[in-house]
Amino acid sequence: MNKVILKNDKFKKTRGGNSRLLNISCQKCGDAICLYQKDGPGALRRMYLDRISEPNVSISQKDLSCSKGHLIGIKTIYEKEDRPAFRLFVDSVSKKIVKP
Ligand SMILES: [Zn+2]
Repeated sequence: MNKVILKNDKFKKTRGGNSRLLNISCQKCGDAICLYQKDGPGALRRMYLDRISEPNVSISQKDLSCSKGHLIGIKTIYEKEDRPAFRLFVDSVSKKIVKP
């Protein structure tokens, strides 16, 4: 888990250059979903595919669900950046900071 290297690119710079590595799990059952690099401040409303690492579930489908089938989010394209992401449902995931 500690070998995950935070990405440093234009997307990160756009958001102020501050990133944290989060451990994302299902809010309902606590099942691990993935590690996620959150760039910049603010709430986690979508997860960009290029920021997801070590996924425990399939991220190639239209829906993102935990391994027990709870729906977490829906795939979308963030048009401003033409960047695929999962739009997260409110209160669908728990976040734990792995790396500040
Ligand atoms: Zn779940």
